[in-house]
Amino acid sequence: MRADYIRLWVRTKLLPRSALSLIDTEYRHGAMDRISDFFRKVRLFLKTVKAFVLSGFRRTTKSETERRLSICSTCELFDAESASCKKCGCRMKIKAQWRVASCPLKKW
Ligand code: SF4
Repeated sequence: MRADYIRLWVRTKLLPRSALSLIDTEYRHGAMDRISDFFRKVRLFLKTVKAFVLSGFRRTTKSETERRLSICSTCELFDAESASCKKCGCRMKIKAQWRVASCPLKKW
């Protein structure tokens, strides 16, 4: 509460109006980008789940799963900490097992 008051005071007393409007615009654009990226990932995920279900839950062979994971592990968009893809947001240990799944960059 007190931190909010101090932040508000700093913003209104120390920054010119144009700077305030620029900060607000940047904040809104950043937030909107994150929100639209989140919904893009959700849409991609649901599309893949739908294809997986319609395929009759068909899975790849173990060697194909390992091949896919080895490609992902060398990809610049692979987040090793969460083992997920930054492009589609999927957990690759799960997605790589689904036969109908594919890489959003067509690497596999
Ligand atoms: S799915 Fe494709 S883009 Fe995503 S981490 Fe794997 S290789 Fe990279």
